[in-house]
Amino acid sequence: MSADPAIPFPSNKPRAVIIGSGFGGLAAAVRLGARGYDVTVLERLDRPGGRGRAYVQDGFTFDSGPTIITAPFLFEELWRLCGKTFSDDIDLRALDPYYRIVFDAGGHFDACADDAAMKQEIARISPEDVEGYTRFMQHSERLFRIGFEKFGHVPFDHLSQMIGIVPDLVRARADRSVYATVCDYVKHPHLRFALSYHPLFIGGNPFRASSIYCMISYFERHWGVHFAMGGTGALVKGLVGLIEGQGGVIRTKAEVAEITVENRRATGVRLASGETIAADIVVSNADTATTYAKLLAKAPRKCWTDRKLDRAAYSMSVFVWYFGTRRKYPRVQPHTILVGPRYGAHVADIFDRKVLAEDFSLYLYRPTAIDPSLAPEGCDTFYALSPVPHMDSGVDWSSKAEPYRQAIARRLSETLLPGLEDEVVTSRIFTPQNFQDVLQSRKGAAFGFEAALTQSAWFRPHNKSEDIERLYLVGAGTHPGAGVPTVLSSARVLDAVTPDPRSMLETC
Ligand SMILES: Cc1cc2nc3c(=O)[nH]c(=O)nc-3n(C[C@H](O)[C@H](O)[C@H](O)COP(=O)(O)OP(=O)(O)OC[C@H]3O[C@@H](n4cnc5c(N)ncnc54)[C@H](O)[C@@H]3O)c2cc1C
Repeated sequence: MSADPAIPFPSNKPRAVIIGSGFGGLAAAVRLGARGYDVTVLERLDRPGGRGRAYVQDGFTFDSGPTIITAPFLFEELWRLCGKTFSDDIDLRALDPYYRIVFDAGGHFDACADDAAMKQEIARISPEDVEGYTRFMQHSERLFRIGFEKFGHVPFDHLSQMIGIVPDLVRARADRSVYATVCDYVKHPHLRFALSYHPLFIGGNPFRASSIYCMISYFERHWGVHFAMGGTGALVKGLVGLIEGQGGVIRTKAEVAEITVENRRATGVRLASGETIAADIVVSNADTATTYAKLLAKAPRKCWTDRKLDRAAYSMSVFVWYFGTRRKYPRVQPHTILVGPRYGAHVADIFDRKVLAEDFSLYLYRPTAIDPSLAPEGCDTFYALSPVPHMDSGVDWSSKAEPYRQAIARRLSETLLPGLEDEVVTSRIFTPQNFQDVLQSRKGAAFGFEAALTQSAWFRPHNKSEDIERLYLVGAGTHPGAGVPTVLSSARVLDAVTPDPRSMLETC
């Protein structure tokens, strides 16, 4: 599908308009630009990056969302498409350990990069589980070969493709949950947590998400966990540089109000300002449910009807507190998970009962452990993330946010960050209400549709819209799903489903 680079491209390139500048939108822009499209990215916020956008407040640099960077080859590929070298622009550091898990009952677990060190760590906690862990990792690798290598980069536009993968899914016992699968291999509750919690990172419920997601353990092992110096924002900046270097345009504060459609074919977009922009293809990186329900409210939709969108399951949300401290906490690693007293019951509060629990499981990010330039001299930059139910909880975040933040501060003060309340010099919060209002995510879900087998592959909104011609989807709400490597893969899938720009010129 890609254009032959040896033949110069005519100057009247077909135009691709991309709605949203999350990692999926930016990666799609690079790929479409490399294939010969004239690319315009429209972003409603004041800066690019979506969930990955960065901001500076009182001299502290905050990454707003993704922090754990895996599969660097997906970034390297984007740089190569532009004739550039990733490492010339981005200083990516491999972490070891990847992260620390601190348990409520005492004790911790370090996820180590090195296999032998990891087995030692397993043995330290439960010697009898080392053999089970080894077998689990073999199983995780098998799932990775199916879930990522075989299916993660191909479109699922036809039911026959879904039927084709059923034997693999049956063999992999994809009907079982991540947690149930992990329990087959290890006994110690801390290890059961450490090997099963990963779906939460992409908004899935470990007790419900298909065992296919057990592949994340091997995924980490295979590619490692990395940190981009300058923070995740450095990756966004790098991608923006690639797009601009290709001659593409990124317009911020440009909210799309409608995707214009004629005869079931996308013809461009209308901005909230009233401006219209014609396009040969439209790619939406905005929340997929919102794309269909709001940006295509007037368009005929047979597949993604309002009723179907209402019945879909949406991921959990998160409450994030960004803060800077006047002192350093040198013992705190870049990534720490502070597990609360309950696992299954807490997850059920979030996903099933949809109530805001009194207790927490927190993820604490301290980028200044690696890059001190992200805070003023002698200070630390942090964010603390608490998984919470999406907006169906009915929580009034306008009144609940501050007490909730204070409760998190108390918890951190009692555990990882002694005396925290007196050390905070800058602070900001982002609630499910903000996910809904600022990022336009349906129900304030932090990761779009919930990661579930019944909402995956062919069952997920397709990368090539089922309802509207010349409309394509990229990002967490489409195939293959949420998470940075995954949305970069969704941009890869676009190469296979969007038309070769040369063929479009011939038909113009
Ligand atoms: C707090 C948090 C932590 C995370 N941590 C990790 C992690 O460590 N590792 C990992 O791999 N993943 C992580 N994730 C998941 C990952 O960040 C996301 O799945 C991924 O970044 C989503 O990218 P996206 O391409 O779908 O676009 P998004 O980031 O969702 O961006 C969509 C963009 O579209 C814009 N937009 C929406 N509507 C319109 C409109 N009408 N007009 C114009 N623009 C519009 C929005 O403003 C936004 O900028 C995390 C997510 C969150 C929320």
